[in-house]
Amino acid sequence: MGHLLTRHFLWGLLPALLAPLLFLAYLPALEATAAELSVWRWPLTALGLAGMALAALFGQWRHVLALAAVIGLPMLGDTDLLARSAGHQALAVLITALVLAGAAVLPERGPTGPILWLAAGLAVLMLGLMLRDIALPMLVARPLAEFELAGRSLALTRSAVAVLLCALAVTVLQGWRPDPLRAGLLAASLCLLPLTGALGTEPPLRLAIAPMLLLLWAGLLLHAWHLAFRDELTGLPNRRALELRLRAGPRPVGMVDVDHFKRFNDRHGHDAGDQVLRRVAETLAGTRGARAYRYGGEEFTLVFRRRPLARLKDFLEEQRRALAERPFRLRTSQRRRKQRGKGGGRGIKITASFGLAMPRRGETPAAVIKRADQALYRAKAAGRNRVEIDE
Ligand code: GH3
Ligand code: MG
Ligand code: MG
Repeated sequence: MGHLLTRHFLWGLLPALLAPLLFLAYLPALEATAAELSVWRWPLTALGLAGMALAALFGQWRHVLALAAVIGLPMLGDTDLLARSAGHQALAVLITALVLAGAAVLPERGPTGPILWLAAGLAVLMLGLMLRDIALPMLVARPLAEFELAGRSLALTRSAVAVLLCALAVTVLQGWRPDPLRAGLLAASLCLLPLTGALGTEPPLRLAIAPMLLLLWAGLLLHAWHLAFRDELTGLPNRRALELRLRAGPRPVGMVDVDHFKRFNDRHGHDAGDQVLRRVAETLAGTRGARAYRYGGEEFTLVFRRRPLARLKDFLEEQRRALAERPFRLRTSQRRRKQRGKGGGRGIKITASFGLAMPRRGETPAAVIKRADQALYRAKAAGRNRVEIDE
């Protein structure tokens, strides 16, 4: 649970908590003119295009479109080509906020997925409104509320409310299913707030491009880190992360292997097997004094901080019991299918075997893992659902 809370906090709430800081960081730049900011035009466009290329390589087309929207933001609202008015700026901000929220909320369906239609629809709508010089009066009407904060007058404008509502929707989804790309989108969308007139001035749209691009890039890099070091199925750190951790030197290691898992897969299907692995991972992630890794297949590794052997054994026993005493229930759809056959609805007992090895002087981490594996093998041979130790 603690581990889940940290993950949700990191990916869900941190970007939202950063918003006030971003807001403050803007203050000195608010007086900048569009001409001053345009010096950065080409370097920032290049940064955005490079991000789009990387996102496309990762197959993250929603992110490609979000980056395109950010590069295009000043073009939509700022150019001399189109008559520029307060209404147009508010419209450009609103549309960018909607594209970012769409990218964060809609499913990833490739380059022709729903996000493409959303972005294309909004861009056409926006161009149409601009070319016909229709500002949306509801966006530029008097602010809903005005107040003073630290000597600065702030205004709750309608487009600020729209940006905040988009961000709120994404935050809710993010808290429920955290994801690094979405965290970047969320933080970037909050950079639009100072452009909504909320700070009493209406700075040029270009002002938001640099922080937005950097945050979207940060999302991409975190995504790459996730792909490299996290296990997709269980959310635990993977074997590569384990090797990195053990480079600092050997530690007490526990190896865990689910008992008769092949039989479970054969009987209940691979999907149910995957659910079991997620359950086992969730339980092991809560092991006291240890960090859990997915070693591969149905095998997990626990790396302990140095502790007396007796305590480590207690921690492992606790986990062995926790698994064995909580029968696994198939999810409803699978249960219904099973109920037509026999044995549906009942809980299925899942157990695992554990091997623990304490590091010896001068021993390599790989050697400790090997001994933990041998201890695990003994636990299997002695009847499974037990803990064996190699001191
Ligand atoms: P033992 O008690 O001796 O460990 O028996 P076992 O059946 O668990 O051992 P074995 O190593 O023969 O089988 C491991 C099985 O784990 C084989 C494979 O079907 C299953 N498995 C490995 N990775 C995954 C996975 O990601 N998802 C699912 N559903 N099954 C997996
Ligand atoms: Mg195995
Ligand atoms: Mg097994």
